[in-house]
Amino acid sequence: MTRVLIVEDERPLLRALAMNLVARGYAVTEAENGARALTALADHQHDAIVLDLGLPDMSGVEVIRAVREFATTPIIVLSARNGSSDKVEALDLGADDYVTKPFSMDELLARLRATSRRAVAADESVVAHVGSVRIDLATTTAVDQAGKAVHLTPTEWKLLDVLLRRPGKLISTDTLLTAVRGSTEHTDSSYLRIYFAQLRRKLEPEPSRPRHLITEPGMGYRYRP
Ligand code: CA
Repeated sequence: MTRVLIVEDERPLLRALAMNLVARGYAVTEAENGARALTALADHQHDAIVLDLGLPDMSGVEVIRAVREFATTPIIVLSARNGSSDKVEALDLGADDYVTKPFSMDELLARLRATSRRAVAADESVVAHVGSVRIDLATTTAVDQAGKAVHLTPTEWKLLDVLLRRPGKLISTDTLLTAVRGSTEHTDSSYLRIYFAQLRRKLEPEPSRPRHLITEPGMGYRYRP
């Protein structure tokens, strides 16, 4: 059974989230503030954390920082519509994804399923598909449906290496820029747009309507299998 810690100070929302998750077979721990959340994590192993960023005793960002000192538990952040810088900070500190309030239960459940999929360690071999292109990260080979090799640059391989190992996860702009640093002098975030446009032209069935290499405006990118 998947155990989820919900950290939310709005009591009705906390109750609604807990009831919905329990109804779908999750085990739930409720916490109304950051201190209780950290106590709950010390007491029990949890598989995921749903975390409101605006808490009464400490900010959600501080909770993430504290959690990441001792655990890699996936964290999904709940944030207010206008808190874009908060969300970016949360992702950079190690949150895995976010939903913006108000959100639907289906949306949150989809994010929970995606983040609890196991991330693949860096030394494990990964073969993934982007559209009809088969990508082998270990041998850095990409082959299309007709068996023809697709040529990718070192920078493109570095981006794919980060994204394809974490299917469904939102990867922040900073994380991607750190990954490509060294292979290119172009480490301004605007260059990511260019790299991704190139990648989509090579890999996406319809590059202008990407289905696999997804931009999250102002946040980062996501690989959707
Ligand atoms: Ca709040």
